[in-house]
Amino acid sequence: MKIGFTTSFPLEPLLAAGHQVIDLNNIFITGKSVELVLKAEKQGYPRNICSWIKGIYGAAAGAEFDYVMGIIQGDCSNTHSLLMNLADNGQKILYFSFPFDRDKTKLAKEIEQLENYFGVNRAQTMKVKANLDKIRRKLVTLDELTWQSGQVTGEENHYWLVNASDFGGNYRNYEAELDVFLAKAKMRELSKPKLRLGFLGVPPIFSDLYEYLESEGAQVVYNEIQRQFAMPYLKEDIVEQYWHYTYPYSINERLADIRIEVERRKLDGVISYTQSFCHRQIDNILIRKYLKVPVLTLEGDQPGVLEARSKLRIESYLDMLRYK
Ligand code: SF4
Repeated sequence: MKIGFTTSFPLEPLLAAGHQVIDLNNIFITGKSVELVLKAEKQGYPRNICSWIKGIYGAAAGAEFDYVMGIIQGDCSNTHSLLMNLADNGQKILYFSFPFDRDKTKLAKEIEQLENYFGVNRAQTMKVKANLDKIRRKLVTLDELTWQSGQVTGEENHYWLVNASDFGGNYRNYEAELDVFLAKAKMRELSKPKLRLGFLGVPPIFSDLYEYLESEGAQVVYNEIQRQFAMPYLKEDIVEQYWHYTYPYSINERLADIRIEVERRKLDGVISYTQSFCHRQIDNILIRKYLKVPVLTLEGDQPGVLEARSKLRIESYLDMLRYK
């Protein structure tokens, strides 16, 4: 079966059962994003609802999925209404919840339920996990080539890590392409960025952000949530793995991870990306409060290129970092 999903979740049992799993966010952002948003708006999605939700609706409504897996706890409350809409269109829906209190027993139960539903046992799940962990280990290397040797750009880092949410719908092909990329990247000259930035928050809706930062002499050497999608913890136990994954839990788990990486990667500053009409904008208050490096809050709304105002704000921010 072909199963679309609304955000990263334990996909190992589904792969073990032989299904194809696809991240709807990736269809949205790598496809005809503007058209997908418009499609949702034509169905009545309001202007003041996040573009990602509209894009996910457009992606799910336009493709032939046997099921859509909705992550109804640990992502976005808009997902509840989105799923009801899709169900009303005749789409079959499945659910997964990350426990709000990060309770391991509840998380273990959720994963077990997935296994039971898809008719696989833990050994089968773990066999797939071992294959994915082999790829995740290579992504840790790719990440090191970004922040240690500078042989991988911030944009390339973003591309590979964000696509690790579903491994492009075929993890064997993804791994083969990753091997080719890594072999080439390792042959590149070492490079030292003048300004080292972190990118925090959901992936940017802007198509040219990384390119613009590079043209202004800054390099993103830490993509926070994209790195989370690539699950770099390499824990043996599957429950442990999804317990360490920071995105579905509170801002405190994210902040703990961000603080370590800001130090380790010697960041000059961070861009905290917020999506218009997203509840996570509230998390940004604590990010600004508790991080010790300069934070630029950058808001995106519609898919497309950076508008002049955002470019100006980035320029002034980078000037300030240089001055410091
Ligand atoms: S950006 Fe925010 S509002 Fe939009 S889908 Fe993601 S969590 Fe929901």
